[in-house]
Amino acid sequence: MNFEHLDTIAVQAGYEPKNGEPRVLPIVQSTTFKYDSAEYLGKLFDLEVDGFFYSRLGNPTVEAVEKKICALEGGVGCILTASGQAASFLSVLNICSAGDHIVSSATIYGGTFNLFDVTLRRLGIETTFVDADAPLEELQKAIRPNTKVVFGESIANPVLKVLDIEKMAALAHSNGLPLIVDNTFPTPVNCRPFEWGADIVIHSTTKYMDGHAQVVGGAVVDSGRFAWTNGKFPGLVEPDESYHGLSYTQHFGKAAYIAKARAQLIRDLGIGMTPNTAYILNLGLETLPLRMAKHCENAQKVAEYLENNGKISWINYPGLPSNEYYERAKKYMPNGTCGVISFGVKGGREAAAKFMEALKLANIVIHVADARTSVLHPASTTHRQLSDQALIEAGVSADLIRMSVGIENAEDIIADIAQALEQV
Ligand code: PLP
Repeated sequence: MNFEHLDTIAVQAGYEPKNGEPRVLPIVQSTTFKYDSAEYLGKLFDLEVDGFFYSRLGNPTVEAVEKKICALEGGVGCILTASGQAASFLSVLNICSAGDHIVSSATIYGGTFNLFDVTLRRLGIETTFVDADAPLEELQKAIRPNTKVVFGESIANPVLKVLDIEKMAALAHSNGLPLIVDNTFPTPVNCRPFEWGADIVIHSTTKYMDGHAQVVGGAVVDSGRFAWTNGKFPGLVEPDESYHGLSYTQHFGKAAYIAKARAQLIRDLGIGMTPNTAYILNLGLETLPLRMAKHCENAQKVAEYLENNGKISWINYPGLPSNEYYERAKKYMPNGTCGVISFGVKGGREAAAKFMEALKLANIVIHVADARTSVLHPASTTHRQLSDQALIEAGVSADLIRMSVGIENAEDIIADIAQALEQV
């Protein structure tokens, strides 16, 4: 059954028990599946019939959660991966080979930056990092004949720049390229990139989708709208000799991209999600719309408190009218952005450390988007592998504190911040 509203999709989509079956999505803890004939199994291998044969390639629990996330984003297919990093890797490797080129916003998660800048470069895939706020004509200069994809984050971690998705989609499409958007921070509850022209959406489900800091995971969702037959993507069109000479566009039509990603790369790389993880992720997804509303409400209150506090040198939250991305956020995320804010404490790096250590309710952790409020100093942790120049390009200043506002009572979070600031 198809549901219209995201809060209903979050609870109901993906798993529809038949008569007498468990009401709650069961964990199918089996690597393999039994069939009565070798002939039928052969048809499964040839992708002539639907079904499961080995959990590295597909599993009923994982598939149910894939369907839910697919419905939340409004796509035609989804693959759950072992991590957000695996999702980023899968999403680009599915259309890039050695000799190809990526144009990416420079302000992206440090791990993704490293994946593109170091590991993919070692594989012969080059990335040009751009200021996504530059005018279209400027961005066009980064496109090369061998460019295969444009990449950005809807809300950049940790600098909280809001991506002009329509502009990036125009850049990509006018060059016959797909736009991949990492939609981890706003989630589909607050931002639907496909509605603004994105072709592929990826997630670190480790963040708000799980929302309880329990399972690492990722997702790749295909909008089904990109025309892969434009001559730039032979890997999707020409026969795949590693898959019985199958052409993904001919066989799967709109779902060619996601079908190739599973049949070829999930098969070869083994980076899919496990059924246990999918089960736990599904519990988080059921309350995602409720939690996103509360994260945003609390973050707004905390940001307003910090903006008026004399010990804070600067504050960055797209929900503040003083923020340079306020109008853009209202356009792409009218119901709120996310629960993550960043700010500097007067006194620089030392004051930042003192403040963070004085917090009691909020913990120092390498994480965001948890139900519990947490803080982090990116320059000495998540972004420490970046050079000083790359740090500046990624918009991460040395005094930047990233706070992920949880779903506790806002007054308690603010009281904790107030007592910690008093000790600075
Ligand atoms: N994308 C974004 C925006 C992230 O914030 C992260 C992790 O923080 C990732 C991707 C990588 O996800 P994971 O840690 O699940 O591999």
